[in-house]
Amino acid sequence: MNTFARPFSRRKFLAGTSSLGALYAAAKFAPLPALAQGMASDPRIAAQPVADKGFASIRKIGEGLYATITDRSKGLQARSNGGILIGRDAAMMIEGFQTPIAAQFQLDTLRTLTQLPVHGALNTHWHFDHTLGNSVYGGAGIPIWAHADVPARMAAIYPKWQSESLETFLVPWEKRVKEAKTDAQREHFKSDIEGVSGMFVPVSQAVLALPNRSLDPAKMPIKIDLGGLTVVVEHYIGHTDTDLIFRVPEQNVAYMGDLLTGGQYPVNINGYAMKWRETLAKFATFDKKTLFVPGHGNICGQEGVSEMRSCFDDLAEQAEKSYKAGVPVEEATERYVIPDKFKNYRLFSWGFGIQRTIEQFYEEWSGKHGHVLNYS
Ligand SMILES: [Zn+2]
Repeated sequence: MNTFARPFSRRKFLAGTSSLGALYAAAKFAPLPALAQGMASDPRIAAQPVADKGFASIRKIGEGLYATITDRSKGLQARSNGGILIGRDAAMMIEGFQTPIAAQFQLDTLRTLTQLPVHGALNTHWHFDHTLGNSVYGGAGIPIWAHADVPARMAAIYPKWQSESLETFLVPWEKRVKEAKTDAQREHFKSDIEGVSGMFVPVSQAVLALPNRSLDPAKMPIKIDLGGLTVVVEHYIGHTDTDLIFRVPEQNVAYMGDLLTGGQYPVNINGYAMKWRETLAKFATFDKKTLFVPGHGNICGQEGVSEMRSCFDDLAEQAEKSYKAGVPVEEATERYVIPDKFKNYRLFSWGFGIQRTIEQFYEEWSGKHGHVLNYS
């Protein structure tokens, strides 16, 4: 058993190995949609960034509000988006990114904008591409804030990976490649190795810095007053069980983490598909003028929420057809066809983008609750 399987039950993992499907490798190299229509059309978003490192740029999106937007085509140092918030009395940052290089970039940029004390750096959830650069903040004496369960989630997995070699880690994944039944399946499995390696390698290179400021979800929404700028922290379940969003209601700006992503299939590695859809339905009720900074992809308005909902809808509709026709879940996940409107979407892997989501729908419909939510 690979340590990667830790967040899942053994049953889930075995089901996964039997029918992981296509990773659309080509899509990973598709050019990013230009930093976009939506962005340009909103007067709150500055045309020129205040800083640009290629792999990410930082631009003003409101009074004291900045968005750090990643460009994967120029490097994965950041991999996720982030942000800077500056009030009259203090500043904060959002995300630790995939490497210290990106966290340092964000901190350095903040220092060009203000000399106010930095109240903290917020992680939207525990994933590697949002937390591995946290050590920069720790080294600068900046507290790292996150959902109360984030340190435990990180500690349960990442030190394990750091005690293993990539070669050992990949043994079960390579075994699947050898045992693939068709050429197509073999290619899918190979691509999946690429996906898990893309997590393992940055984790193995990181000095982990766990959040030291615990935010209790039972006490949310939590308000943080930076002086004339109030940040509201809310907890929703979906992409993980530790997801936080950061809203600035006076300005209708919201930093969403991976609960909202653009231009890609939902990454459901540690997700809860049914709750995630409910969460997105709540986001659809946010003010029509809300500017969303997603965890990945371009800044968007409500159209970004609609698009992600429609991607989930498509997964659910195709799965439901199979379910009603009595198609077993393994087969149903293979039958899923990526519709034209999502053909340029990035896909982390078939298994974690599509299969796992369809499995969760099946479990819901067949009344077998509990498996998915069971962290073991
Ligand atoms: Zn994530």
